[in-house]
Amino acid sequence: YQKIVLASRPKGAVSADNFRLETAPVPTITDGQVLIRNHYLSLDPYMRGRMEDTKSYAAPQAIGEVMIGGTVGEVIDSKNTKFSVGDKVVGGSGWAEMCVSDGQMLRKVDTAHIPLSAYLGSVGMPGMTAWYGLTQIMQPKAGETIVVSAASGAVGSVVGQLARIRGCRAVGIAGGPEKCAYVVDELGFDACVDYKSPTFLADLAAATPDGIDAIFENVGGVVFDAALARMNPFGRIAMCGLIAGYNGEPMVMNNVRMILTMRLTIRGFIVAEHLEFWPEGLKELGTLVATGKLKFRESVAEGLAAAPEAFMGLLKGKNFGKQLVKLV
Ligand code: NDP
Repeated sequence: YQKIVLASRPKGAVSADNFRLETAPVPTITDGQVLIRNHYLSLDPYMRGRMEDTKSYAAPQAIGEVMIGGTVGEVIDSKNTKFSVGDKVVGGSGWAEMCVSDGQMLRKVDTAHIPLSAYLGSVGMPGMTAWYGLTQIMQPKAGETIVVSAASGAVGSVVGQLARIRGCRAVGIAGGPEKCAYVVDELGFDACVDYKSPTFLADLAAATPDGIDAIFENVGGVVFDAALARMNPFGRIAMCGLIAGYNGEPMVMNNVRMILTMRLTIRGFIVAEHLEFWPEGLKELGTLVATGKLKFRESVAEGLAAAPEAFMGLLKGKNFGKQLVKLV
């Protein structure tokens, strides 16, 4: 089977030679273990951080080891009483077509009402990220205006839809007219503003006539700065991601003063540190997806070898919706 390891650490932008495709024999399992054939690999912006050897919330990925990552797949051999051959499971196999698990970090999932791939998106880690940041940090009240950047993506798309369900005015920020149209027409946001447009600042002002009560920040830099300038007193900011700077780009911030003058609360968070909220959040997200009330879109790359290219694209906004790699 094939797997992809981290070959070297990027200097600036990620390049194909930071990865190496390797072939390994099909593993045999021992008591307590299961063998999984992965159907989808999730590509996520956090992986960029793990490629780096700098101070962060998690240890860096070791050189020569399989790139970390969430996966969904099927049990094809089991010596673990909790899992049977044919079970669909979500886990963290990394960038590999197969993996052996001791069952500890493995969860059986129902695919009768929810497609398997959604467990890597809206009903998985990205969905939980949206749910946690919105409900626990932004704490929006009906009638308030919330803004979310990278609005067409895995996390952002869920933030706006959950906010609308809670009676808020949801305004997205995304790159390009096609993504913005999708966010309004398909996802049902009240408005979506294109940060690449020369009229971005005026468009954001027009979309937030009553100012902004809470921000879900995925991007940073000029996108965040523009929203910051329109914050209302005692606004809340869930600092989720700063993707505009993941390849080392400098980030311009002119409106830091708003944090003081508007008495804002900003809180960073890492969703994996709040596992106690996952059952509640996943229950709401699962029900919404199963009943068609939470929409999502996927960008699917074909085959493991396509993963590095798709990952580099994700960091440049080439994905449109949750970025996956289809393995089977
Ligand atoms: P997305 O599906 O949103 O894909 C990334 C998107 O980011 C791109 O499609 C692109 O959208 C946008 N983007 C990329 N580069 C730039 C740039 N230079 N300037 C502005 N926008 C850019 O990814 P996810 O939903 O998986 O992740 C969204 C954010 O959430 C990331 O910052 C990620 O790190 C963070 N995150 C944080 C977690 C936590 O626990 N704190 C957990 C999970 C994710 P566009 O074309 O619209 O610009």
